[in-house]
Amino acid sequence: MLVDKHNRTFPYLRLSITEVCNFSCQYCLPNGYKKTGKEHFLHQDEIRRLVDAFIELGVWKIRLTGGEPTVRKDFTEIAKIISERSEIKTLAFTTNGYKLVERAQEWYDAGLNAINISIDTLNAKKFHDLTGHNKMQAVRDGIDKALEVGFKKVKINVVLLKGINDGELDQYLEYVKDTPVSVRYIELMQTGDNLTYFNKFHQSADHIKGQLVDRNWIENVRNPGDGPAANFTHPNYAGSIGLIAPYSKDFCTGCNRLRITSSGDLRLCLFGNFGIPLRHMLQDDDQKNLLKAAVRKQLDYKASSHFLATGDTGIMTNLSSTGG
Ligand code: SAM
Ligand code: SF4
Repeated sequence: MLVDKHNRTFPYLRLSITEVCNFSCQYCLPNGYKKTGKEHFLHQDEIRRLVDAFIELGVWKIRLTGGEPTVRKDFTEIAKIISERSEIKTLAFTTNGYKLVERAQEWYDAGLNAINISIDTLNAKKFHDLTGHNKMQAVRDGIDKALEVGFKKVKINVVLLKGINDGELDQYLEYVKDTPVSVRYIELMQTGDNLTYFNKFHQSADHIKGQLVDRNWIENVRNPGDGPAANFTHPNYAGSIGLIAPYSKDFCTGCNRLRITSSGDLRLCLFGNFGIPLRHMLQDDDQKNLLKAAVRKQLDYKASSHFLATGDTGIMTNLSSTGG
């Protein structure tokens, strides 16, 4: 098992498989994805070698992300390669949901068993304005489809935006009344690209917390190994509400994840100041021990927390480039 100097363990790998995205979310890629030369995202063989090495380092949960991971033509094949490995207990992906209605069954059959779907507003016009696509209902239908085909762990990501969706809690509560999903409000994070937007629209998760408490929602006790969300439940509701507050004190204490960018760099933190290239160690099956040793060594450099509070976003320009 990977353990760092701050006694944190890392069973969870977030693997970005592309920077390409078909949406243009205002806080992430407001002008859409722009090709910056020849794309060179990890190939299937490289992904297989990477996953096999990380399994030997104790990883049992992998999330495929991006960009929009499902725009990759070989997304299903990549999922199959990973899910064939019995050591991987959770194979998750994060998606904007645009293809779920058509493909949820195929992806479930490929061994994906957990899914995060982004839907920042339940208002169709606002959704169109935020993402550049008139697809709110299609994404909602996709969530229903994911539940129908058998996904048990369905989470809905909502980036909290002041004046845009911070007045929609009651609509989301109505939604989780009978729908067994976990809606997770994520505080908007500053990135290298979005300072003006961040200053205008950042809203603290406490804004939602107060409203939940007023409506008799109960905050669940956090257990060691739980993710970064504070979870709230209510006996009359099928679903739950989570709050992810990266600016809160102690957010990094429970960090349990490492990240790989779509071109094969190890990122110790979303907001770290450096990436460690691993791709040259993914070219041959014989390089596994070399790769494992390199990862172990780098872990010594993982800082105890990010420096977001001081406005230091590290080398990350936007989340689609590092993998959200
Ligand atoms: N394209 C997929 C999607 O949107 O779900 C996966 C990649 S996206 C970068 C992963 C998650 O990061 C999404 O839920 C998105 O809303 C969130 N995200 C992107 N930029 C963010 C930011 N600046 N602050 C907080 N969350 C952000
Ligand atoms: Fe694309 Fe996801 Fe970024 Fe939106 S948040 S632009 S869907 S990568």
